[in-house]
Amino acid sequence: MKSRVMLILLSLFLPLIGGAQEAKPLPGADERYKADILLVVAHPDDEGAATAYLARAIDEGKRVAVAYGTRGSSGGNEVGTEQALALGAIREIEARRALGTLGITNVWFLGGKDTASQDVLQSLANWDHGAALEQLVRLVRLTRPEVVLTFLPGAFIGEDHGDHQASGVLATEASDLAGDPTFFPSQVAVPLRRLEPYLEGLRPWQPKKIYYFPDADREDIFKGQGPEYSVKEISKSSKKAYWRASLDSFRLHETQAKSFVDQLNKMDDAAIEKMMAADGWTDVQRFVLGKSLVGGSVTGPVFENVTAGAIPFRREAFSVEAVPAELSVKLAGPWDFYEGFRRAHGLGHLPHPEPPEIALQAGTSLVIALWVSNPTTASREVTLSADLPAGWTVSNGTGKFVLAARQTSSARIEINLPALADPKKTKEDAREVTVRAESNGQSVGVVKLRVELRKRALPE
Ligand SMILES: [Zn+2]
Repeated sequence: MKSRVMLILLSLFLPLIGGAQEAKPLPGADERYKADILLVVAHPDDEGAATAYLARAIDEGKRVAVAYGTRGSSGGNEVGTEQALALGAIREIEARRALGTLGITNVWFLGGKDTASQDVLQSLANWDHGAALEQLVRLVRLTRPEVVLTFLPGAFIGEDHGDHQASGVLATEASDLAGDPTFFPSQVAVPLRRLEPYLEGLRPWQPKKIYYFPDADREDIFKGQGPEYSVKEISKSSKKAYWRASLDSFRLHETQAKSFVDQLNKMDDAAIEKMMAADGWTDVQRFVLGKSLVGGSVTGPVFENVTAGAIPFRREAFSVEAVPAELSVKLAGPWDFYEGFRRAHGLGHLPHPEPPEIALQAGTSLVIALWVSNPTTASREVTLSADLPAGWTVSNGTGKFVLAARQTSSARIEINLPALADPKKTKEDAREVTVRAESNGQSVGVVKLRVELRKRALPE
């Protein structure tokens, strides 16, 4: 008994004998996953849209992480017979190897599926929008990026892949929500007991800036909307031009580009530069500023005003959409979505085409989806008509319709598109289509759309 009392006394005085008790370090976030830039794109090889800039940023000591929407399981395979999910498994490795040439190893895939369409809403649905957003918010909280780089969310004449747009939509949403502790709160809660497998122990994180790169043919409306970087400068670390670092990274996407890579392998550097310059690879790299929460100028460098450390979460101001009091008609689908999206995310300045535009395959059809609203207390008759270029014909959807009181209905006008006038050309100049809505001889709305006919284009 005596010795036990002695032990207790000893343990009480030991801290005094041995000096002050040392403070124990509390655990912090895993610094190996901290990024300065988080790039969010849709498919393996899309990173090529930004790798020339990323190579420069890495030279400047920036840490880069990448999130892909899909594993790229569709399309042809130039190397072997593997297709579909097997091809996606291969392309995941190709993407990791391509980024590995730049020293980027923190790479994730959101698990979406390739969607052959220009409609961002189809891509978001096919990617399981909620699950993809939850994972991307998790990755923003894990990587704590200062800057997010992604495709510009908008619909344009171009390839304008719906998946590319979806990556820009998700990156914007995740940037605006990851700092909100009430959004996916189980991610920012800490487990109370050991091995509790549900709560994630992340912290909310507010990225400081978001920049976009467009997937559009036109360049006019993007100039002067953000910083520009020469890709011809020589990298300090690799001793090659940044465009060349980008190309040497792209070469790893063999299932998508083996024939191109084989061609490159037979060429000398001068011939490669000439060919790539003709293809636009040596053109200036241009970004569009989405938003900065730390000030700075629109065209200033990406990291202007960015300093280390967290900034407070900023909730976008809520704005109320004006609701028409009379009969009205407006475009539905992605165009309607983007109008609301820009408003919801404080992106009213983001370049977008007016009137809306799309490129479609000649000889196919154009479907114009509309919302027709009757907020009045009586049912009303509405007449829909379309003004079309010569040779374009309505196959369905025009004529007289009855709209019940206090009802918003969807309508669709289907238009047959002619073949290209000159079959040797790959596209024609864009033409304007006008939809008119009338009631009792009075106009209740006009919707315009610019449509470019092409030899080939993704479905609407
Ligand atoms: Zn792509």
